[in-house]
Amino acid sequence: MTVIRRRQERIAVILPILRKLYPDAKCSLNFKNPLQLLVATILSAQCTDERVNKVTEGLFKKYRSAGDYASVPREELEKDIQSTGFFRNKAKSIRAMAQALVDHHGGQVPRTMEELTDLAGVGHKTANVVLGNAFDINVGIVVDTHVARISGRLGLTRRDDPVKIERDLMEAVPKEHWTLWPHLLIQHGRALCTARNPKCERCPLLQYCPAGKVFIKERKKD
Ligand code: SF4
Repeated sequence: MTVIRRRQERIAVILPILRKLYPDAKCSLNFKNPLQLLVATILSAQCTDERVNKVTEGLFKKYRSAGDYASVPREELEKDIQSTGFFRNKAKSIRAMAQALVDHHGGQVPRTMEELTDLAGVGHKTANVVLGNAFDINVGIVVDTHVARISGRLGLTRRDDPVKIERDLMEAVPKEHWTLWPHLLIQHGRALCTARNPKCERCPLLQYCPAGKVFIKERKKD
């Protein structure tokens, strides 16, 4: 049996278990339209989603369109997003991204990976988040630290590079679940499969998880 086939079969078993465990798994950034999600995702770099949600609560009331972000003085936007960290770079990216939306896309967020990653401050991961969660377009799988760690533990990839991890996952996860998969793993990473001391004894995935069995064996030795 090929490696890909084995991964597909493992995911076919794991996915329903995770969906049952985390029925409400979804994007944890608050947004009401694609522009809001794009801004929130840029702000979420090196910042918790909780903090971003606090900041965007007021930000989205003040800035309603791409033109609003493009025309605000840099210092003012920096002040508005300061508490998310790296605020100078983020303000620069948001203003440049918004200007490009006004100049080339009629103020609207485009719906393709190529157009999105052409925008300032928008990388592959951000584009994946926006396409999947704002437009329901599955073009890739978001790989963050939880997704990378847990996919490796579950034996779904042997890679460290997020681009290669994404490729392995795209071969094995059914396309209609590409957006959901990272939300499930992020919740699992917070609840049970934590970076340190994962709660394998309580994890319903244990029997399908090569790393879990090793963790438990090692703990018995201690
Ligand atoms: S068994 Fe342990 S390592 Fe495997 S998914 Fe569950 S918590 Fe993570």
